[in-house]
Amino acid sequence: MAGLMAGKRGLIMGVANNHSIAWGIARAVAEQGAELAFTYQSDALGKRVKPLAAEAGSKLVMPCDVERVETVAEVFETLKNEWGTLDFVVHAIGFTDRSQLKGRYVDVTTRENFVRTMVISAYSFTEVAQHAADMLNPGGSLLTLTYGGSTRVMPNYNVMGVTKAALEASVRYLAADFGGQGVRVNALSAGPVRTLAGAGVSDARLMYNFQQKNSPLARAVDLKDIGGAGLYLLSDLSSGVTGEIHYVDSGYNIVSMPRLDELRR
Ligand code: NAD
Repeated sequence: MAGLMAGKRGLIMGVANNHSIAWGIARAVAEQGAELAFTYQSDALGKRVKPLAAEAGSKLVMPCDVERVETVAEVFETLKNEWGTLDFVVHAIGFTDRSQLKGRYVDVTTRENFVRTMVISAYSFTEVAQHAADMLNPGGSLLTLTYGGSTRVMPNYNVMGVTKAALEASVRYLAADFGGQGVRVNALSAGPVRTLAGAGVSDARLMYNFQQKNSPLARAVDLKDIGGAGLYLLSDLSSGVTGEIHYVDSGYNIVSMPRLDELRR
């Protein structure tokens, strides 16, 4: 199929089901002609990911748990053998112990989970970039997913907010490192979406409703909104954009207080 992504090949990491943000982006780029490979974290998730990958026309679906470094290496070995080169990677991976997404950051955050969250949700993007480095074609694009809790305090987001701040800093350092080979590195900062990971944050529904009511567009974002922005960041349309944290949140990040009509209710 001809389209914006015709002739481009990319790896999608982080699909758990058809509500996953990674799936929204995968669908958008597949519709524009991208050839895709997918990873899945566990056998149980693999059962959901394989049919979705088939729907996107993908023949390459591989297990990968970023806590097991050998599985990350195996994915890129396979891609090297199958494709030789690569045009983009979508990293939509996040995890923390659910019990620490509830209550005061200072009270609930343990050393062990802090480190684990950082490794899975922030460091893994750098590790993926290291493996992809010598395979990426000029014009290539690396994309990760973040949330506005990185720069502003969101109740209960806690260690994930601290980790997203590290992830966003990684985006800038990686963008500087990869610029010389013509590869771009960006993050997409999505507003709240009802996914498995999103539901892990305590009172997620309250945050979702508040952002929906108080963002300039006065609505939540969906997978189509995020997929469209992902397509832009992965395609040549954004050829001059790197090191950017691109918000897709109905404009919520620019607002400093609830809307007056909401307050007056
Ligand atoms: P999701 O639950 O659909 O996806 C999270 C993915 O992370 C899953 O596919 C899971 O298998 C994967 N993952 C977790 N630990 C892993 C590991 N050790 N190895 C490999 N994969 C692992 O939820 P989502 O909301 O689509 O999350 C995707 C990304 O988007 C995450 O980084 C999340 O923080 C971010 N994000 C989500 C929202 C939201 O409101 N849902 C908003 C902004 C950013």
